[in-house]
Amino acid sequence: MSSNSGIQIPSRLPLLLTHEGVLLPGSTMRISVETARNMHLVKNRLLKGTSLKSTIIGVIPNTRDPEYDTEDLPTLHSIGTAGLAVQVVGSNWPKPHYTLLITGLCRFRVAQLLKEGPFPLAEVEQLDKLEQYTSPDEMSEAPGPDGELGELSQRFYQAAVQLVGMLDMSVPVVAKLRRLLDSLPRETLPDVLASMIHTSNKEKLQVLDAVSLEERFKKTLPLLTRQIEGLKLLQKTRKPRLDDDKRVLAVRKGGVLPGRQFSLDEEGDDEDGDDTAVLERKVKGANMPEPALRVCLKELKRLKKMPQSMPEYALTRNYLDLMVELPWSKSTTDCLDIRAARVLLDSDHYAMEKLKRRVLEYLAVRQLKSTLKGPILCFVGPPGVGKTSVGRSIARTLGREFHRIALGGVCDQSDIRGHRRTYVGSMPGRIINGLKTVGVNNPVFLLDEVDKLGKSLQGDPASALLEVLDPEQNHSFTDHYLNVAFDLSQVLFIATANSTATIPPALLDRMEVLQVQGYTQEEKVEIAHRHLIPHQLEQHGLTPQQLQIPQDTTQDIISKYTREAGVRSLERKIGAICRAVAVKVAEGHNVTKSEAAPAESVPQGAEHGEGKRGRRAEEPDGVSADMAAPPDMPIVIDHIALKDILGPHVFEMEVSERLTLPGVAVGLAWTPLGGEIMFVEASRMEGEGQLTLTGQLGDVMKESAHLAMSWLRSNAKTYQLTNLVGGSDPLEGTDIHLHFPAGAVTKDGPSAGVTMVTVLASLFSGRLVRSDVAMTGEITLRGLVLPVGGIKDKVLAAHRAGVKRVIIPKRNEKDLEEIPANVRKELDFVTASNLDEVLNAAFDGGFPGMSNPLTLPHIVSKL
Ligand code: ADP
Repeated sequence: MSSNSGIQIPSRLPLLLTHEGVLLPGSTMRISVETARNMHLVKNRLLKGTSLKSTIIGVIPNTRDPEYDTEDLPTLHSIGTAGLAVQVVGSNWPKPHYTLLITGLCRFRVAQLLKEGPFPLAEVEQLDKLEQYTSPDEMSEAPGPDGELGELSQRFYQAAVQLVGMLDMSVPVVAKLRRLLDSLPRETLPDVLASMIHTSNKEKLQVLDAVSLEERFKKTLPLLTRQIEGLKLLQKTRKPRLDDDKRVLAVRKGGVLPGRQFSLDEEGDDEDGDDTAVLERKVKGANMPEPALRVCLKELKRLKKMPQSMPEYALTRNYLDLMVELPWSKSTTDCLDIRAARVLLDSDHYAMEKLKRRVLEYLAVRQLKSTLKGPILCFVGPPGVGKTSVGRSIARTLGREFHRIALGGVCDQSDIRGHRRTYVGSMPGRIINGLKTVGVNNPVFLLDEVDKLGKSLQGDPASALLEVLDPEQNHSFTDHYLNVAFDLSQVLFIATANSTATIPPALLDRMEVLQVQGYTQEEKVEIAHRHLIPHQLEQHGLTPQQLQIPQDTTQDIISKYTREAGVRSLERKIGAICRAVAVKVAEGHNVTKSEAAPAESVPQGAEHGEGKRGRRAEEPDGVSADMAAPPDMPIVIDHIALKDILGPHVFEMEVSERLTLPGVAVGLAWTPLGGEIMFVEASRMEGEGQLTLTGQLGDVMKESAHLAMSWLRSNAKTYQLTNLVGGSDPLEGTDIHLHFPAGAVTKDGPSAGVTMVTVLASLFSGRLVRSDVAMTGEITLRGLVLPVGGIKDKVLAAHRAGVKRVIIPKRNEKDLEEIPANVRKELDFVTASNLDEVLNAAFDGGFPGMSNPLTLPHIVSKL
């Protein structure tokens, strides 16, 4: 049925293969272009072409399953529809794609495929006549087909009129359809109606393939009748009181009835209508405050007008989904009972008495005064000391939801406050996201690592956080993405940090700092046995009947495999043991005869001789051994098993090994990660009296070094210090080098003063510093020792390293009270008020040259 009159389509057409349905002449369809082949067609043909002809393409339904659509061209369906690309919209979101709006013109048959790539091009034969557009008035005078075909077309027309009559004429799209029925040539009606009424792709394909007009009428008429019957059925069951809008909705929802008739409407297709109605209901039911509701309704209105394929549709949709999900008025009821809270805190955490007491006070005040605009609690301490886990317990005691917001490395204020919605891929900030996650508006938010907030060109996140934490402002916190206020006043904020030094001052001002100190060895053993081991056993699906870790093994793990203030590595090591044992248990190697002593003979903490057990690796493997072993004997981890699992010791006692030359002493440093010991080294060589300092020292530390040097020079005679050439000025003809390991870590602060004096005194006198002593203290030019901070952490570090005597400033004596009794028992504390006393305590038998070398400074040892 090739056409000789009317408009001719080009004889060569680029082919677009689509999975998205069947385009029929006379209808308009949106096609999403994602495959490489189709993308090439759009880029190289549609976007480059200038003439109208270049916007005509052949659309061929791709019947191959999209999942199996590969690079090579599938077998082409022989008939397609030439279509005019009316609109091309490109977007990179969520991935690069185009959306085409195509109006079908006429059928064509693929005569010959000319080339396959980058997009297929074919020689085509036009199958339908394509008339010039004529106005409806002229059309009505044109003679219709006659004979059998005429009768068929008449029946078809009447059915179409009946169908439209059953729909509500006040809906614009229905009115439009009615007008079209009269204005379109009759022979185009089958295609137009088939694309509008509810038909499957297979049925549409049959209509496409019906090249002869008669066949086409025959194929479409039953579809039309089916639609009418369906409508009749639905009208019968429909409740009379449904208003018009809802009726259309009900018809659509029924799924039997006209769906595509709305495709001519700009408002999108049927599913879209459904969706927005559901969304509207959700918006109205979300219980949001008036301003938020107004914004939502406005956005909803915009959404209804937008075609789904527009990128902005997805943006608006996401926004509305978030607004609906936010807990505008959903909250949990606080169920605080101070006595229960105390029990819970105690059962969750061992030690940390001071912190637990303060937390209880805080909770008690909250209970008495229901709206507390008090300070934000900020737990400051080394990693792994339980800051986060106390936060979690607070949420539990209050019966509130808990959410942790990690602030480490956040340097963009939109991380807190969200991105404006003008960006593609914009998102709400972490606060709003957190609220969405917990689903209530009064959770406990743990702002983790506030001291690690960064700063960048994108604005200061600390100032955004200030707004969040300020009780005067946070009832109307406006996230940039939401663009409406959300009330944060019911949220309980708790912050954590490793050190207060890097918390922005304005933020610190809003917070009450609670120091959380590192643990002693004994506390760690207790924590391990009460909390970490049971927790890790549970995590790995093990029971105490399968794995036992005696106390001395735990002590070994603590001293030989970890060196930390908290218990995080300890927990990891226990986890590693559990994994190793889990493999054994899972393999069915729970125990072998000689592998473990019977459970009752290995109480926690008991000694296990090597002879009792062989190495696991040497155990006989295999089922027979398993069968011989009693089924419920635990695997007990002794120090041999420990070495097998964790490898050789990571830390050994090294203090005494390193103090074998004059010019080395042990200092005590405080870092955000807890206390540390530090070997300070000095050497001298011939030179011109220069002092070289290395180890990334800050200004304060450099000044301390000069102070130490000056004090020694001025007291050189008293202490009988000499230089290399034998004179009494230590610097004459001599260069001094002072080094602080680890060289890559920046250090600052005055507390290494006494250590520097001791190192230099040792260097100039040629005497060894006692190998079991560590010290801390600031010095003055007159030789006084001033107090310093972080005594507890420093002393614990010294204890961990096996030091026996610790020299501290006299005015820090009061800090010793914080140190657990068992640690105090094992250490000698020397409290010094001047450098004489320091030197006297640091060298065996006192320091020669002192006025009264035998007067030992005050020793507060073994309290
Ligand atoms: P932080 O937040 O201080 O870095 P976490 O709260 O994450 O440390 O604690 C690390 C692990 O140590 C958690 O499993 C926690 O339960 C445990 N933990 C720390 N301190 C204690 C304690 N005093 N009692 C019981 N468990 C503890």
